[in-house]
Amino acid sequence: MSSYDVIVVGAGIQGSSTAYTLAKRGQKTLLIEQFDRLHTRGSSHGASRITRMAYNRPYYVAMMKDAFPMWESIERESGKKLFTPTGLLTEFHKPKGGGMHQVEASLRDQGIPMELLCADRLRKRYPQMRFDDDMQGVVEQFAGVLRADLARETIQDLFIRHGGIIKTNESVIDIEPGSMIRVRTQKGDYFTQKLVLTVGPWASRVLKPLGLDLPLQVTRIRVLYWKTDGSADYSVDSFPNITSYDVNADHCYYGLPVLEYPGLFKLCCHSGTKIESPDERDMIADERDLEFMKNLVRTRFKGLSPVPVIIENCMYTKTPDEDYILDSHPIHNNIIIGAGFSGHGFKMGPVVGSILADLATNRTPKYNMKPFRINRFFPHTIKSSL
Ligand SMILES: Cc1cc2nc3c(=O)[nH]c(=O)nc-3n(C[C@H](O)[C@H](O)[C@H](O)COP(=O)(O)OP(=O)(O)OC[C@H]3O[C@@H](n4cnc5c(N)ncnc54)[C@H](O)[C@@H]3O)c2cc1C
Repeated sequence: MSSYDVIVVGAGIQGSSTAYTLAKRGQKTLLIEQFDRLHTRGSSHGASRITRMAYNRPYYVAMMKDAFPMWESIERESGKKLFTPTGLLTEFHKPKGGGMHQVEASLRDQGIPMELLCADRLRKRYPQMRFDDDMQGVVEQFAGVLRADLARETIQDLFIRHGGIIKTNESVIDIEPGSMIRVRTQKGDYFTQKLVLTVGPWASRVLKPLGLDLPLQVTRIRVLYWKTDGSADYSVDSFPNITSYDVNADHCYYGLPVLEYPGLFKLCCHSGTKIESPDERDMIADERDLEFMKNLVRTRFKGLSPVPVIIENCMYTKTPDEDYILDSHPIHNNIIIGAGFSGHGFKMGPVVGSILADLATNRTPKYNMKPFRINRFFPHTIKSSL
């Protein structure tokens, strides 16, 4: 019989970070992943992720203040370079986009250096783009890019170095709650005092048999790379990460300077196509996000070919308020859930890992946990419905 202090299910960035933190704290930890260690079928694969402080909700800014030094600590411990500074431009249409004052206020409250630019100054600073007269931007200098695949691999390597065990190509098919939880895969049974479920887009499938029907929506997101023709400079020294923020827009987007593929600029739509099952991810024919992006490239970005040369698929798992779920199961409180990262979880991996590790070892996380609680979805009914 194999028994552990903690079993973590799902080796995406959140499960890997949680398992690493637990092993580092001396917990006998098993990480179970249904695919290979660095598979591309979930939400954490790919070469890059934006890392930023610029959030309109102050509790994320407070968490990001710790995430940056935690990533540095992982870099020091592993000897791997994971972060490239680029800065970040968040652009808004005024007044219809709204929200700018919230981003500005939450950065200012936390003492994060930033600049506010009007359309004229945006045009001078970023000649690669066209800006409408009613646009304005917040520039955050310390933002950058994380090398996502390398980060996930590095954190898993550190987990193993701290004595952790990874089982790959094993799918958890049944969980029997109790003071000693039984976790069944197609290869056998494992037993654990605490169980952490970080199963990304598979969360509904894993949680429903445990009596928890969370309002999670899985969305297929396409990662698009556009060829630069050399007439505009999108290199990391000349162009920042960019995000659009417009509470009224159907589509928002984000871009990263040329980093992973020579001569290719990454520019993606933040909204994609809702799907019923993560297994359908690569079978969806919906082209609306692509049409929006082609039009955006034609009208706003200079020197890019109007058709993407690489298209990769990924998934967001969104909650209705786009805040994460970081909480214990309402009935089986030795089962901890990290889910619903809503397309903005990667940068926060080490902080999420420390929070879930805290919850799994009866420590109180140092952060404001209220936005992340499960009972925000069904405050009056959850106890009786389970
Ligand atoms: C295109 C795209 C761009 C993004 N850009 C950014 C960005 O710039 N900045 C940022 O901060 N975030 C970004 N995100 C979001 C971020 O990548 C995700 O929030 C994060 O990767 C979610 O990680 P996860 O560990 O929860 O999920 P996943 O990576 O999906 O991991 C879940 C794991 O659980 C495994 N699993 C599921 N069920 C089982 C089972 N029954 N048994 C065993 N294993 C199981 C899966 O195989 C998977 O490996 C982006 C996401 C996408 C898709």
